[in-house]
Amino acid sequence: MSYVFTPPQQPSVEVKGRSERFPVHRIYCVGRNYEAHAREMGKDPTREPPFFFTKPPDAIVANHATIPYPTRTRNLHHEIELVVALGAPGRDVAVARALDHVYGYAVGNDLTRRDLQLEARDKGRPWDTGKAFDRSAAITAIRPVADGGHVASGTIWLAVNGEIRQKADVRELIWGVPELIAELSTLFELAPGDLIYTGTPAGVSAVKPGDRMEGAVEGLDTLVTTIQLGTD
Ligand code: MN
Repeated sequence: MSYVFTPPQQPSVEVKGRSERFPVHRIYCVGRNYEAHAREMGKDPTREPPFFFTKPPDAIVANHATIPYPTRTRNLHHEIELVVALGAPGRDVAVARALDHVYGYAVGNDLTRRDLQLEARDKGRPWDTGKAFDRSAAITAIRPVADGGHVASGTIWLAVNGEIRQKADVRELIWGVPELIAELSTLFELAPGDLIYTGTPAGVSAVKPGDRMEGAVEGLDTLVTTIQLGTD
């Protein structure tokens, strides 16, 4: 096979305790999946079916990275999230079998240009410029289910410059991991390499150049992302 130019590198994520990396196929994200966060976004947290948006696989940011402040926003927000990494294909997956599709878990930060997202939301436009921009999907190493089991509860938190901004428990997810996988598999053909950012708890807030975000889910790695000081 030859190409008219060199194909881009396969985006991938470190796997805890393994030299092999996890190749990213797609990145799915869940909107408003904790009640208090739905309220802070001005929405009724009644249990509607989950809704999804996506980020491009090359939006992945490795743990401990320093990233530039994104263009065209004045309101960059952090969203700490439990991330599910899929290891098997799936269509119309039953809730009872959904966890069989999970390869492992990681901690993610669904970085958001809140001003652009809300403008799009209010005008009925797509969320891509607010959500799917370059370097918008920070993630830790994945902990394989084989090594640490599944994650159904545990503290999820994020601090900015050492000050706690988000703190909840992943058992508060409105739609849990099995239900998310089952629902998503009726909309898309799931594949090994898919990541699902499961939604963020309350406390999302703005970060600025020079800020250091640190966050985790109990039992998984701590995700550290720093916003570069200056514009280049
Ligand atoms: Mn999110």
